[in-house]
Amino acid sequence: MTSADTLFERIIAGEIPSDVVHEDETTFAFRDINPQARVHVLVVPRKRYRNVAELTEADPQLLADVLRSCRRVAEIEGIAESGYRVVFNTNAESGQTVFHVHAHVLGGEQLGLFGRFG
Ligand code: 5GP
Repeated sequence: MTSADTLFERIIAGEIPSDVVHEDETTFAFRDINPQARVHVLVVPRKRYRNVAELTEADPQLLADVLRSCRRVAEIEGIAESGYRVVFNTNAESGQTVFHVHAHVLGGEQLGLFGRFG
């Protein structure tokens, strides 16, 4: 067992179990442990960047890989046509809690509005 340092690196390495939906050479997709919609899948690049801003600057091709993987997840989950939302929480006030960039893929039912707390 390796000792990768962040939660998502440990999930990707299989050290922490997860419900894997899709994986490829550069990305890894698994169900959120606390789903906010019927379908709630996290898509992460295997290589760690802190947030989507860092990823965009450092490796736009990898950002495209993440978005392609989101589309693939939507197809696998059968929500590509009915509709889905892709969210990148970025830094503290957005609610980002895990600082390994990840896209939330949400769908499978009518989604509500989002924005201000309360
Ligand atoms: P953030 O708040 O950083 O945008 O999203 C982090 C997400 O990771 C949350 O939606 C949270 O439920 C999810 N999460 C936290 N710990 C785990 C875990 O151990 N396993 C899985 N599958 N999801 C997790």
